[in-house]
Amino acid sequence: MTININTTTKPTWCPGCFNYQTLAGIKSALTKSVKKKEDIAIVTGIGCFPKIFDYLNLNGINTLHGRVPPTCLGIKIGNPNLTVLGFSGDGDAYAEGIEHTIHAARYNSDFKYIVSNNQVFALTVGQPTPTTELGFTDKTTPLGVKTQPINPIKLMLASGASFVARVSADTKQVEYVMDEALKHKGFAFIEILQPCITFHPDLEYKNKIYSLEKNKHNKTDFNEAWKRAEEFDYNTAKKIPIGIFYQVTKPVFEEQFPQLMELKKKKIGWKNIGR
Ligand code: SF4
Repeated sequence: MTININTTTKPTWCPGCFNYQTLAGIKSALTKSVKKKEDIAIVTGIGCFPKIFDYLNLNGINTLHGRVPPTCLGIKIGNPNLTVLGFSGDGDAYAEGIEHTIHAARYNSDFKYIVSNNQVFALTVGQPTPTTELGFTDKTTPLGVKTQPINPIKLMLASGASFVARVSADTKQVEYVMDEALKHKGFAFIEILQPCITFHPDLEYKNKIYSLEKNKHNKTDFNEAWKRAEEFDYNTAKKIPIGIFYQVTKPVFEEQFPQLMELKKKKIGWKNIGR
């Protein structure tokens, strides 16, 4: 029997927003691989995409702006048996929360971090984020963005992440990469590239993306992952690789503490231990 994680809340995303496709992919992956709703906890930040909290009938925390990764880590320490998923937008993950995103990669706690990147602060009507391309203008930046965007794939590789992926907001791609991330032991970083059709509609990804998997990419080779990551600098690019850039086995944070391993063995959280 599959779990039902639908809610009756009507999404307030703009009609046609790519978040709908991402949501469908996430729901498919979770209903396939998780047996009980109680086994999952979700954490969302602030932004358009984090409104996903209202559209998934799952336990969780809608946390402070930028604080998704430490909240996920706290939940894993409270009960390492839970499947924990964090959801942010590019403003949340790369501006307010960039330090937490870096440390999440470094700790390698076993949670999955899904970041929807539309290269703009969409919820607050279109200001540039750290991944906005050079020259972008809005009311706050009438002379255009003058600073180079960061490359989150390179940032995650350099910070020690054991699973680094990027897909576009296509239901099948999201489902595929979520399936792989859920099987991965350790921190998984997934960036979902999508234009904001209201505040940044001129981004053109569709005809540039190509699949790493179909191009014989070796996802265990760090140098190859780095080279592929450099193909798209979040400004202009002729081609944008999507898929799993890098996946290796590294020590998982929780598994290095006997107290937490005891909880795992007994399949309980701290609240059930009777202390
Ligand atoms: Fe989607 Fe952009 Fe509308 Fe937000 S503002 S719901 S990201 S289209």
